Amino acid sequence: MNMKNNFISEVMKSLWSEQSELYQDVYRRFKSNPLNELVEELRKRIDQSAGLIRGYDSPTFSEVFLPSTGCSHCLKESVFCGCSFCDFVSNDVEYFAKMKVIRDQSEEAYAQLICYAFKTSRGENVSASLSEAITLFDSLDVDEFPDTAYYMLFGQNQLYKKRPFQVEIEARASSVTKDRLCVWKSHLPARRLIVRMGVEVGDELLRNQWLNKSITDNEIYQAIEHLKESKCKSNANILIGIPGLNERQSINMFIDSVLWADVAGFDQIVLSPLIYVGASLQSYIATHNGSEGALFDCHTGFVSICAIYEGLVSILLREPSVITKIGISVFNMPVHWKQEKQAIGNSEDEEFVREAYDGLMDFNVQRDVHRILSLYSNLQKTQLYSRYQSRVSTQSSNYIDTIYDLSKKLSMLLWHKDWEDKLNTLSLS
Ligand code: SF4
Repeated sequence: MNMKNNFISEVMKSLWSEQSELYQDVYRRFKSNPLNELVEELRKRIDQSAGLIRGYDSPTFSEVFLPSTGCSHCLKESVFCGCSFCDFVSNDVEYFAKMKVIRDQSEEAYAQLICYAFKTSRGENVSASLSEAITLFDSLDVDEFPDTAYYMLFGQNQLYKKRPFQVEIEARASSVTKDRLCVWKSHLPARRLIVRMGVEVGDELLRNQWLNKSITDNEIYQAIEHLKESKCKSNANILIGIPGLNERQSINMFIDSVLWADVAGFDQIVLSPLIYVGASLQSYIATHNGSEGALFDCHTGFVSICAIYEGLVSILLREPSVITKIGISVFNMPVHWKQEKQAIGNSEDEEFVREAYDGLMDFNVQRDVHRILSLYSNLQKTQLYSRYQSRVSTQSSNYIDTIYDLSKKLSMLLWHKDWEDKLNTLSLS
């Protein structure tokens, strides 16, 4: 499967072209500035955003989002072309360029900044939560998180008064090797290491030719194997909602993907509804929805809470044993609620819908299937559900045709003259 310069990566380069130019410009301007001035500037930024770096904080779960050069899949040779549904960086392009200047000039200074951010936001010698997530884009990527930073953070410091039960990190499946896990376990301040991976969908073609993930099934199977052999736990992120696909296609894909991740051997499976973010493909589709030229008269990929319940209930009834593995994204679900709320307005449905969202978040702790079934039944009485059902009843389940149609329209919009040549790089078999 050719994944370099495929159609979707060209689309993403095009959607992110302004950000790429800005990044290159900032990098050029700052690379000859005195390093200490740049480090000082970024330390001040860390001071001001300590609350954001420390994203979650509870006795059971805490998370810190550490500064870095960014996702090396999203940013290659100073050009942005990452996963089509993702945008963690477009608001911070200048900052990532400056971090890259520091990383290129001094690994030591870069590592010190990461440690400074951890201490400033999380403190030192603190009472740990049961689970501590220490989040970068890919903690096992030595460009983003060099060993110097690892040993500076974990090798010398007393981070916690009492060790947490587990530490959670993010990684791309292709970065999970026994050597990297060995380094991470060498000074781990916890009994257990969980590696969270963005699998997104079980369908390899969709994952790589439309989501631009650039991760094969084999890389995922190998990563799971390495984690098992290293006595670490694996966690798969699965998307509910695919940019451009209709709800019927998205929900079918979601159900199949969870069942696939279960059989593949993941220990945990986190469900993340698609949300509109910055320069993502779904935001682009939404922005152009109904515009002249009618690029997108189809769905954007955002699925309603009704579809999420329908998919979840179907999984729980078909494979009850998967219940113990499933969690709901604490990051995406609240954002999804805000975005769905805009769509339903102040209707009488709101109470049922709010309860449905609360039920999903509680599911993470209580695993109460009866409550999920009861909330689903309430949801089915709403107008939101009637509208959802009438939409889905007319939707095609053939996602290959949908992607082809969308790609053709995208191609015509982005590359007026040579759109056919570009479209020919699309491979859907
Ligand atoms: S989903 Fe993960 S791998 Fe893909 S661009 Fe975003 S951070 Fe990078």
